[in-house]
Amino acid sequence: MSKKTEPNFYESVQQNFDRAAQFTSIPTGLLQQIKVCNSVYYMQFPVKIGKDYQVIEAFRVQHSHHRLPTKGGIRFSQKVNQEEVMALASLMTYKCALVDVPFGGAKGGVKISPREYTADQLQKITRRYTTELVRKNFIGPGIDVPAPDYGTGSREMAWILDTYLTFKGGEIDAAGCVTGKPVSQNGIRGRDEATGRGVYYGIREVLNDRSLLKKYGIEPGTEGKTMAIQGLGNVGYHTGKIAQTEGDFKIISVAEYEGAIYSEKGIDIDELVKHRKKTGSILDFPGTVNLDQRKKTLEIACDVLVPAALENQIRSDNARRVKAKIVAEAANGPVTATANDILLKKGVIIIPDMYLNAGGVTVSYFEWLKNLSHMRFGRMEKRFDQNTYLNLVNLIERQSGRSITQKEKSIIARGADEIDLVRSGLEETMVTAYHQIREVMMRKPKVTDLRSAAFVNALGKVASDYMNMGIFP
Ligand code: NAD
Repeated sequence: MSKKTEPNFYESVQQNFDRAAQFTSIPTGLLQQIKVCNSVYYMQFPVKIGKDYQVIEAFRVQHSHHRLPTKGGIRFSQKVNQEEVMALASLMTYKCALVDVPFGGAKGGVKISPREYTADQLQKITRRYTTELVRKNFIGPGIDVPAPDYGTGSREMAWILDTYLTFKGGEIDAAGCVTGKPVSQNGIRGRDEATGRGVYYGIREVLNDRSLLKKYGIEPGTEGKTMAIQGLGNVGYHTGKIAQTEGDFKIISVAEYEGAIYSEKGIDIDELVKHRKKTGSILDFPGTVNLDQRKKTLEIACDVLVPAALENQIRSDNARRVKAKIVAEAANGPVTATANDILLKKGVIIIPDMYLNAGGVTVSYFEWLKNLSHMRFGRMEKRFDQNTYLNLVNLIERQSGRSITQKEKSIIARGADEIDLVRSGLEETMVTAYHQIREVMMRKPKVTDLRSAAFVNALGKVASDYMNMGIFP
């Protein structure tokens, strides 16, 4: 297929939507309403950079107002354009529905390459962007709640909150206007790792699904399975680190902006990050070989390929060369709709983005709840639980005449901290959502891939919200 016919990201999302829609009985008009973006705000604003002014282009798209607030990250990238942000906002709606997070989907994009600006300049741009959102009523704990995405992190979220507070400091729930904030500034423990941790839980669920794996001739279990990762940013790093430490995965290839490396024996992700900090590159990491092109990581023979950078990485021109058994979409839209068909025909399992990277928005939801409740999770029950378990252990010791060590006691008799509850809530969410997707496949035998099943499940939930509002019959 020529480059011209490759669907762009937004078209891919639309095509995947249409494919799944035929498996539902949702009326056409309602499907159309679910599909379109409700509000698109395009802005251009000046920011003084050095001695000159630069006009910055930016977007905020609210895909669906069927639930409020809307929710979605902010991307800083030179490649940002309206259709990209629309695609990302659409995916947010389906993602939230899939994991029962009660938000509509949204996304923001600022067309800049963050590498080209100092921290002070990025702060100016972020604050100005936030001001534009405040002016147009496009941000607020009950309106629209941004979060981190590609090119942004907790630092940018702290600037957003501070800017919002300068306008709306008197609002009691103001801290809930943005998530992914530093823990010291109304954030929640575990948000940084949340997307990657969710990606790991999703991959683990698939690798525990014996009936699915049997069809593809894949052995169950995570131990010793090989993984290749594209993009060692927030999502790629945490996915790799957790897969390695908790799932005993062997990471055999990593690609970053500057190139890609390979090692049959496995790559220690933390050591690689240290090496990159020291040398400015992942290349020449001891014990690995450099690959001649960074995209070669996508073509490595492995059990699980994790594209965790950007959309449209696996396309009609390289999909046939993908040798992974499972493609785990940690990034949004890494596989085009055309490549999706090629991979499915090749017998590759694709774990879809809208499910797999939903851990970020799930923990953002917990953060938003924490902000609205004005209290850390675990504060009320931690000591009570700890004392109850301790009394129980002491009773068993007295009754049995045997005692355990102090260390064993502290492991058994402990109450949950915020991080324990966040991880537990995230795991529960990812496991439940996976089983809902599989349940669709059991109920509808024509739905044979996880993406279509995820869409069918999400569309059903959004449609029923609309019907409950009485907007559609
Ligand atoms: P990030 O900016 O922290 O990291 C992305 C990394 O990918 C960067 O280090 C970048 O240098 C690298 N990269 C870019 N192009 C590359 C290429 N061609 N080959 C190899 N590496 C490349 O971004 P992130 O937050 O980790 O987001 C990554 C993806 O995950 C995006 O698609 C984003 O929408 C999605 N996502 C992020 C979150 C989140 O919580 N941050 C949540 C859900 C989905």
